[in-house]
Amino acid sequence: MFTHRLVFPASVLRGRGAIKHLGAMCGRLGQRAMLVGGKRAIASVEAKVADQLEQQMVSYLGSEIFSGECCQEEINRLADIFRTQGVEVIIATGGGKAIDATKAAGVACNIPVVTLPSIAGTCSAVTSLTFRYHQDGQFRDMFPLPCGPAAAVIDADLLATAPLHWLSAGIGDTLAKWYEYRAISDLTQLTGLAGVARTNSELCYTLIEHFAADACFAVQEGKANNALEQVLDAIFLYAGLTSIMSNGAHTGAAHALYEGFTACAKTRHVAHGLLVGYGNLCLLALEGRSDEELQTAIALAQASAVPTQLSQLAVGITEEDLAVIIDRSLSTPDMGNMPGEIEFGAIRSAIERVELLSLPEPKH
Ligand SMILES: [Zn+2]
Repeated sequence: MFTHRLVFPASVLRGRGAIKHLGAMCGRLGQRAMLVGGKRAIASVEAKVADQLEQQMVSYLGSEIFSGECCQEEINRLADIFRTQGVEVIIATGGGKAIDATKAAGVACNIPVVTLPSIAGTCSAVTSLTFRYHQDGQFRDMFPLPCGPAAAVIDADLLATAPLHWLSAGIGDTLAKWYEYRAISDLTQLTGLAGVARTNSELCYTLIEHFAADACFAVQEGKANNALEQVLDAIFLYAGLTSIMSNGAHTGAAHALYEGFTACAKTRHVAHGLLVGYGNLCLLALEGRSDEELQTAIALAQASAVPTQLSQLAVGITEEDLAVIIDRSLSTPDMGNMPGEIEFGAIRSAIERVELLSLPEPKH
C-alpha cells in the first residue's frame, strides 16, 4: 500500500499586520533567534523583527545574508552557522530561494523555521519542498523535506511594498497550479486528495482572474487592499495546499519549460514565476487549446504583468538558445508528467503560436 504523507506548516498567520504575531510565535519555539534572507529583504524587515523578539524577550542573534543561490553548499553553510551560534529558532525572509535554503538548513540541524516572505513570488513559505540549484544557477532537483515550516507569517502590508514583478511572478506560478494540474490529472483516477488538489488549483485561477488587476494596482500604490489579500491567499495558501495535497506531483510543461530556461544564460536569472507564467501559455498552445482560450489566458497574463513574448523575458533569444531550452525541458520529469509523448517540434510550434497570438496588434 502506498502511504500518502501530507506535510503542512504548523501555523499560518495571514492578513494585514500579521507580523505583529511573529514575536509570540518565535517565543514558543525558542529563546535564541536568527534572521536569514537576502540583503534587501533583511533591510525591509529587520527593525520589525527585532522589535517583535524584544517584546517577547527572545534574544536576537542578528541576521545572516543569503548568498543568492539555493544550492547544497549554501544550505550546508547556513546549517553550520545555526549550529555554531546555538540558534533555537530561525526566521526566513525574502523570496523562494532564500526561504527554501533556510528551510533545508533548519531541517538539517533540527531547528524550527518561521517563514516571513517579503515578496510573493512562490508558495515556498508554506511548503516542505526545497528547489535546489547548482552553484551556477542551473536547476538541480526538488528536494522534499521531512517537515514544513513551524509557522508562516504572510503579512499583506509588508508584501504590498515589494516590487510589482514579484507579485506577477507569484501569479504566474499560481496560475500554473490550475493549467498544469488540469493538463496532467486523470479524472478517471480522481481520489479525494487529488480532488482537493484540483479544486484548490481551480480556486487559485478563479481568484486571480477576479482580483489580479486590483492586486497589482495595490502593489503599484504600495498599499494593501482586499484584492491583494485574496491574491496572496491564492499564491500562498491555496497554491500551497495544491502542492501539499498532490505530494508535489502537480507540474507539467510550464515548469518543464522553466527548467529549460535555467539552461540558458540569458533567461536563467528571470524570476521562477515569470518563466512559469510564460510557460503556462506554451502549455495551453501545446494542448491544442483554441485561439479564444489562449487569448483569454494571454489577456490575464498581461493584466498581471506576466511576460507573454520571448522578448519580454530577455533580449536577443536566438534559435540556438531556444533549442537548448526546449531540449532541456524535454529531459525533465515535469515534461514526463504530460499525457502522451511530447516532441521538440510541438514545443517549438507552441512557442511560435504564443508569439503570434500575443502580439500587441495581431496580424489578420
Ligand atoms: Zn513553481
